Amino acid sequence: MNETIVCSGCGTEIQTENKEGAGYTPPSALNRETVICQRCFRLKHYNEVQDVPLDNKDFTNKLHKLGQRDVLVVKVVDLFDFEGSWIPGFQRYVGNNDVLILANKVDLLPKSTNHSKLKRWIAREAKEHGLRTESIMLISASKNQGIQEAAAAIDKIRDGRDVYVTGCTNVGKSTFINKIIQNVSGEDQSIITTSHFPGTTLDMINIPLDDGSNLYDTPGIINNKQIAHFVSKKELQQVTPAKEIKPRIFQLNEGQSLFVGALARFDFKQGSSNSFVGYFSNELPIHRTKLENADELYEKHSGELLSPPGPETLKTMPPLIKHEFTIKKPKTDIVIAGLGWLSVTESGAEVTVYLPKGVGVSIREAII
Ligand code: GDP
Repeated sequence: MNETIVCSGCGTEIQTENKEGAGYTPPSALNRETVICQRCFRLKHYNEVQDVPLDNKDFTNKLHKLGQRDVLVVKVVDLFDFEGSWIPGFQRYVGNNDVLILANKVDLLPKSTNHSKLKRWIAREAKEHGLRTESIMLISASKNQGIQEAAAAIDKIRDGRDVYVTGCTNVGKSTFINKIIQNVSGEDQSIITTSHFPGTTLDMINIPLDDGSNLYDTPGIINNKQIAHFVSKKELQQVTPAKEIKPRIFQLNEGQSLFVGALARFDFKQGSSNSFVGYFSNELPIHRTKLENADELYEKHSGELLSPPGPETLKTMPPLIKHEFTIKKPKTDIVIAGLGWLSVTESGAEVTVYLPKGVGVSIREAII
């Protein structure tokens, strides 16, 4: 394409190469009188939004104006990958605006999870990140849990202002917005029409609210540290929990190791006998072995006994990198971005974690 065409819906630059990227339009649609990107097309015709990712730099450019407006910011985070789905430096974009945090995928946490405690933990995390939050709600967009309540809270807190819904890719932002669209439009699907797409230069989709203000769906930022980037599509299905996680408890002595497939290895190097609780997809096998045998087991059996990933993915997987942790407080989670977490019950344990290079790992106070 020589000349630049912009989407008449959201104002983003049209491109025909990257199907997942912002502004994608099939080449055949370029001849139309008004060109709209695939994302706006789906919203217009199917009342459905689709997330488009942006890289870090573009994201910063797009969102820095947010803080200059008086709006309600809704931040969707993924409870299964909380740290990974927290947009870095988010508070800088927000300015003095009110923030409502929607912690999504609560359906994945065990039923016994204490929701009040979890919300208090999220509030502390937000504060530590320098974010002033108006409210925190636990929702499940795909299971329609807490959606009505979230919509009501948005309406109350926004107090006539526009709403910006933000989040990393894969947190369930589109699922949430689609549920909101269904809820607000009900039988009357006419709420979203072409006339409601004013050209903007922010590549944000806007969904009109009844008082003339708008709900903006902002593009998602990609979370590069997720294990999702290292496995095949099929393996990802095994890695990503589809239903309530069943905690798996291991009573370990020092000198024992746990393998989560061949994706993560935890060595209990030192400390008195301790309980380790794995919160991973129920489909992911966890294998216990002696630390002294762990290297050999991985050498001989990764891709087979220890899987996923399978042998093909292993060939392209980055080498495993070692991360050392001393567990200083009882009930500490060792969190692997997008894979899950291992909760250590007693303090004093020295744990070495091996992960493919580039996968994020962190520790936190146990959330369950
Ligand atoms: P987006 O990139 O933030 O727009 O995320 P999507 O809405 O496309 O969702 C990403 C993935 O998370 C999809 O596989 C969804 O099915 C899944 N998902 C979304 N909401 C939920 C939820 O509440 N619970 C669970 N378990 N999965 C969800």
